[in-house]
Amino acid sequence: MDKKQAQKYIKSQKDVIIDINDRVWEYAETAFTEFKSAEKLCSVLESAGFEVERGVGKIETAFTARFGSGKPVIGLLAEYDALAGLNQKGGSALKEPTAPEDEGKPGHGCGHNCFGAAVVGAALGVKEYLSALPEGSGTVIVYGCPGEEGGSGKAFMAREGVFDGCDAALTWHPSSVSAVASGSSLANYQVLYKFYGVSSHAAADPEAGRSALDALELMNTGVQYLREHIPDAARIHYAITNTGGFSPNVVQARADVLYLIRSPKSAQVKELFERVNNIARGAALMTDTRVEIDFVKACSEIVKNEVLERVLYSNMEQVPMPEFTQEEMDFAGKMRASYENPWDLLEHAVRRCGESYRAQLEPLYAQGKNINDFLLPYYTNDTVSAGSTDVGDVTWICPTAQFDSVTTAAGTPNHSWQFASCNKTSIAHKGVLYAAQVLAGSVIDLLESPETLQKAKDEHKKRTNGEKYRCPIPEGVKPRPIDKL
Ligand SMILES: [Zn+2]
Repeated sequence: MDKKQAQKYIKSQKDVIIDINDRVWEYAETAFTEFKSAEKLCSVLESAGFEVERGVGKIETAFTARFGSGKPVIGLLAEYDALAGLNQKGGSALKEPTAPEDEGKPGHGCGHNCFGAAVVGAALGVKEYLSALPEGSGTVIVYGCPGEEGGSGKAFMAREGVFDGCDAALTWHPSSVSAVASGSSLANYQVLYKFYGVSSHAAADPEAGRSALDALELMNTGVQYLREHIPDAARIHYAITNTGGFSPNVVQARADVLYLIRSPKSAQVKELFERVNNIARGAALMTDTRVEIDFVKACSEIVKNEVLERVLYSNMEQVPMPEFTQEEMDFAGKMRASYENPWDLLEHAVRRCGESYRAQLEPLYAQGKNINDFLLPYYTNDTVSAGSTDVGDVTWICPTAQFDSVTTAAGTPNHSWQFASCNKTSIAHKGVLYAAQVLAGSVIDLLESPETLQKAKDEHKKRTNGEKYRCPIPEGVKPRPIDKL
């Protein structure tokens, strides 16, 4: 069996793959509560003959599914968690919930339903390929990675050694463009600062009160001054998750603020974390309150791998890009009309690939298409993207690369109701099948070419300076669903 036949097999499994896509979209389970979603992926893989281990890395909704035996071991990273508050009717160009009572519930605003579906599809194709080979020809492992959104599930899994022994890992992300993903990402820490004061009657007995809310506000003001003195690319965001109640006539005895601290290098985040901690302690001292520093999660920056990027890109070129119908293009046009702040698509692509690609990108975007049904040119750079991903932790353990495949209308921002809507349409289904074939083709290339794999490993060693992975999450910190913070 060759790569083409494996990809043909994936196409024959279209109904199974689309069923995963749509069911996981409906379940819309947030970080570390993805019980039905994980089970959906596990059950398909198990009935296809994969050896499934549930609850790996001490996380109930994490799993591994392995097929084949011997070296090399190639990993495929699957995600399936949803985002809070992004419930949206699939395939609708209007902002509306799936049902009136679902308003404000979670939704797949980052398309992780597609993510998991395509990875399972790819694994099914690789299984067909490996089944035709003698035992010991290689192993494929699907890593079921929960809680990417706000949870850094992969970092927790990495801490427990789940990815040890993997020779290379590949993955993808649903997107509004099809392109290889190069460059790095921001490492981050997420920390909850809990202030404890003393309540009292705010008018009758204020001297007896100590305001936790005052402390929180002073902390935020302190961090505001810190922002001038941090690395350019660093970012410090916050959300006040507990203001201490609704009564201004009570001195608030409790207040919580959740901080997300990001910077291009883990070591910088660690340093910023210490500085933010000092500000929190200072705020507590000023207000005679107490602060508890509750470490929630962290992830590392991406170590890119150009050898694997090229393997992915050559497969992206080999698999025919999905063709979209007029109806799909028209729907995408309606979606685009719904964007409050539409992107300049060309500038967006130039920012991604680099200024030197402008001339190549101009004719692609001059077509004014509602779905980007073309492949962006191959590019590679060391740009640090403004986002973070826990794929970063895997990239420190073994050579890893990822790509984006079109599942939405042009210019659809991630984490939006529009993204959630698009990811349960025939546009997304086509993108998922494309991504599954690209991933399977790339895994097969690595199984067939030990030289390429070795080159990827050599590059990895060079880029990490031989440094061993160190999980940024301290021992003892456990993954928690967002409502358990
Ligand atoms: Zn995502």
